[in-house]
Amino acid sequence: MTQNHYDVIIIGGGVSGSALFYELGRYTDIKKICLLEKYDSLASLNSNGSANSQTIHCGDIETNYTLEKAAKVKKTAKMVEKYCLKHGYEDKVIFSHQKLALGVGREEVIYIKNRFEEFKSLYPYLELYDKEKLAEIEPAVIYDKDGNERPEDIVGMGAQGEYTTVDFKALSDTFIDNTLKIQDKVTDIFFNNEVTQIQKIGTTYHVQTTMTQFTADFVVVDAGAHSLYLAHQMGHGLDYGCLPMAGSFYMSNKQILNGKVYMVQNPKLPFAALHGDPDILVNGFTRFGPTALMLPKLERFKPGTYLDFFKTLRLDHNVIKIFVDLLSDSEIRNYVMKNFLFEVPYINKKLFLQDAHKIVPSLNEEDISYAKGFGGVRPQILDKKNQKLMLGEASIDTGEGIIFNMTPSPGATSCLGNAVRDVEAICEYLGFTFDKKTFNDELVDEEPIEGENT
Ligand SMILES: Cc1cc2nc3c(=O)[nH]c(=O)nc-3n(C[C@H](O)[C@H](O)[C@H](O)COP(=O)(O)OP(=O)(O)OC[C@H]3O[C@@H](n4cnc5c(N)ncnc54)[C@H](O)[C@@H]3O)c2cc1C
Repeated sequence: MTQNHYDVIIIGGGVSGSALFYELGRYTDIKKICLLEKYDSLASLNSNGSANSQTIHCGDIETNYTLEKAAKVKKTAKMVEKYCLKHGYEDKVIFSHQKLALGVGREEVIYIKNRFEEFKSLYPYLELYDKEKLAEIEPAVIYDKDGNERPEDIVGMGAQGEYTTVDFKALSDTFIDNTLKIQDKVTDIFFNNEVTQIQKIGTTYHVQTTMTQFTADFVVVDAGAHSLYLAHQMGHGLDYGCLPMAGSFYMSNKQILNGKVYMVQNPKLPFAALHGDPDILVNGFTRFGPTALMLPKLERFKPGTYLDFFKTLRLDHNVIKIFVDLLSDSEIRNYVMKNFLFEVPYINKKLFLQDAHKIVPSLNEEDISYAKGFGGVRPQILDKKNQKLMLGEASIDTGEGIIFNMTPSPGATSCLGNAVRDVEAICEYLGFTFDKKTFNDELVDEEPIEGENT
């Protein structure tokens, strides 16, 4: 075997790849692990704090999650929290704010109240806030610019004192730092190594980068939108296409909100959770967004990747059918058009304000500006076989020693949960041991769920 041979190679140094690197180092007896990253630093794309909403999506205020989905994301979200607390990363990597989902108008108020009843056993700390309480804890959602109370019925469902926010780039850095400290293992990282081709010869994977060649017994591709691109190159995941949905933000240089304020989400729109919250990268600023705009490229704010988009879309009659179905719904059509206009200078702010007023009625044009350089791309998956836009993450485990992960939101929150799924698959395939007990002791929350029999 060459010097460049590893038991496992991970492609992509975002939060997903970094979390896997950490778990392989800490919880398995795998000896040689390598991470290959295209750029010169970790988490420079979607896992960067400027690209995403920095939210730990644990399912309590995300109104697009069913109770079943919420229970799943709660478990993986807790892993991030437990990891951060174990290492003392409070107020450096993980932050605590109040948070709430706001119901505005009679219909949404009923919806939030019902949801509160349904979800409070899974999240015993949840509280219901009436107008008076909201005025006390989050006054900006109640008063208009003249200091008058907004007229609509309003209610909030939320929590105080929970960990709500993560700097996912800082989290990625800690995963790598902590892995590099592990003795008696080879844990290598190569930056500026863009993987251009993966080939399986016999039982060995040959990974060609722009710099050199590596080999491995197992490969995990955590390359964001490029995971599917590399899968297609190898003939995997051909029933999937990638639809890159960019998200942008608007910023206020004032502290307007005390915590995260989400709204009731339209169930037809998987990426519509416009919200406002204090920014953890720019202290004292408030961020609003994200928007959702289809962008014909796989990486935001980087040159190129237009051709990669077209290759990964794999346009055919199934993709056209998905688009036609989506656009035949007037709500989705209007939403698509509006999000396009959110990017057009001069009119964008006025239009965005109309939506943001639902959160902060007093917000005016002088308060916010388009956050240049902020935002990322959610690689949403098109399921061509079932002619549907998939709402969440997707993973292609070929069963042949290579896994491809596609991670739109809440992929950053689920980084440790997704990684442990892959750790188990890798250990089983290669015959290594996963120390599940230590993993559970350190990262899994055993808090009993009220009303559960077991
Ligand atoms: C607007 C927006 C808001 C979001 N908000 C949230 C949120 O609040 N909470 C949440 O949990 N999630 C959120 N997400 C989703 C979250 O950002 C992603 O799920 C997460 O960052 C994905 O991490 P990743 O490591 O899989 O991918 P990425 O962060 O995209 O990293 C992929 C890495 O692979 C590298 N790479 C790509 N191709 C190659 C190659 N050929 N060779 C080598 N390296 C390669 C890239 O350079 C990059 O470093 C949001 C996303 C967006 C766009």
